[in-house]
Amino acid sequence: MPKPLKPNDVTITFLGGLGDIGRNCAAIETNDALLILDCGQLFSNEERPGVDSILPDVDYLFERSDKIIGCLVTHGHEDHIGAIAQVLDRGLSFPIYGSAYTLGLVRYRLDERNVLHKAELIEVEDDEVVDIGPFSVEFLAVTHSVPGGLISAITTPQGVVLHSSDFKLDPHPIDDRRTNLPRIGALASDPGIRLMLADSTNSDVPGSTASESSMKGNLAEVFRAHQGRRIITACFASHMHRVQQIIDVALEDNRRIATLGLSMRKNVALARSLGLLKVPDEKFFDIEEVEDFEPGELCIISTGSQGEERSSLATAAAGSSRWITITDQDTVLLSSHPIPGNEARVSTMMNDLIRLGAEVVHSGLVEIHTSGHGKRDELTTLHTVATPEWFVPVHGEYRHLVAHKLLAESLGMDPDRVLLAGDGDQVVLSDDGLSLRKRVTSGDHMMLHGSFLGPDRGVLGERRILGDQGMVTITVVVDFDKGEQLGDPWVESRGWLDTDDARGVSDEIVRLVADAIDQELQNDDWSRKSLMRKARRAAGTTVNQLSRRRPMIVPIVIDV
Ligand SMILES: [Zn+2]
Ligand SMILES: [Zn+2]
Repeated sequence: MPKPLKPNDVTITFLGGLGDIGRNCAAIETNDALLILDCGQLFSNEERPGVDSILPDVDYLFERSDKIIGCLVTHGHEDHIGAIAQVLDRGLSFPIYGSAYTLGLVRYRLDERNVLHKAELIEVEDDEVVDIGPFSVEFLAVTHSVPGGLISAITTPQGVVLHSSDFKLDPHPIDDRRTNLPRIGALASDPGIRLMLADSTNSDVPGSTASESSMKGNLAEVFRAHQGRRIITACFASHMHRVQQIIDVALEDNRRIATLGLSMRKNVALARSLGLLKVPDEKFFDIEEVEDFEPGELCIISTGSQGEERSSLATAAAGSSRWITITDQDTVLLSSHPIPGNEARVSTMMNDLIRLGAEVVHSGLVEIHTSGHGKRDELTTLHTVATPEWFVPVHGEYRHLVAHKLLAESLGMDPDRVLLAGDGDQVVLSDDGLSLRKRVTSGDHMMLHGSFLGPDRGVLGERRILGDQGMVTITVVVDFDKGEQLGDPWVESRGWLDTDDARGVSDEIVRLVADAIDQELQNDDWSRKSLMRKARRAAGTTVNQLSRRRPMIVPIVIDV
């Protein structure tokens, strides 16, 4: 049994993001207040067929809805803000604190779902200190692959908790907004950092992440090498630092700019309205006017760098874009790396583009992408400056969390002061230090399929069988009063074998199932259940032996 909590204890419960890169969410709590730290989603993939998105274990939040005093959003990436609209839609309501750009992106998401009225959006500035219930939160600038990222230094009844957010230590960020290490250093000496939670994404990658500004020269080189051709670039739609550099290079090459894709258009408009993106109005053209210009005069900035189905670039690559037709006059620049799991999709898109005659320049060929996450040297600097009393690695798969723990220990941290937590675990900060309580909540992947939200209770296994092997139904008709089978059973299938191939096997199934049912009806204690069992077994054995496939067998017994 874990020790009961004392009145001034502070807990942090990890609801997602410690085991996956995605669905980042934690709850920091005192006895009567709960502040949510990010509320993101994880994108689904082939391993979870039919799942639209995966949310943190938000049941924990619903169970404590009375305590929730707000949500801090560190930055505008989907793995940090993508679940907010869902939890508001499902009944929660709270103020959201973040930078202007982050809140702009949040506003779009909430508006799309008609839940904007359920959250007050409270904009915070760099270095601002805001009192939220029993917490006092100081927001500090951080460099990352999206503008407006914020580290939060949360003063709690148990001292300062530093939440690093996604970070890198870019010495030359293109907006000149550097990670505020001096302030972290000052907090470390007075009052001291009691606990640090820090990004582990690149904890097993040596060295430092290249500066965002170092991309410009490489982008310019690609533009120079492709003069006279239309250039279509794709990058993450929220990465306005990259977009700015693409725009700068395009303008230097005397090109005009158009955006392609709704999210790119919206995000560019948002960044321009906030002064985060600088480009003269007259240099923009509408994508509808694309045919009015020579290819060499144009630069199109598109969404779809991950090859997402239905994204603007993937649609163009498939030859079905409403806006652009890819030809041998096009050079496509993929200014991004595929996120793990997206490689095959990106590869398909590249093949499609090349088949249509385009030249494709990707980040494997020329260095036109850099990560938003600090590597080991940068993590080392953060630890050296912050010198936290306790440390919990966050934001990573298990291997990243372990690598980050070992790194902290190699820098001199006492192994007992580095706690390795997972989703569903809680750490308790008390007068005695930090302790770990395993699984105070399930930490389950909460899957959203259509309007259903919940953990997997077996339906994904069924979908995988249906997807891989298909389904065979066997229907038998029985007169329950007389205990007699009426007519022959019949077989239907989907996704098992082509109709012609299935015919011979189906005849055999009918014969064997009919025999099995007749035999079962001879027993005094036959029942609907036993008939179904016999039908499934006879059909299953035959299907497996004759087709060497293992489709789902669905027996149906009709009583007439
Ligand atoms: Zn991020
Ligand atoms: Zn992230």
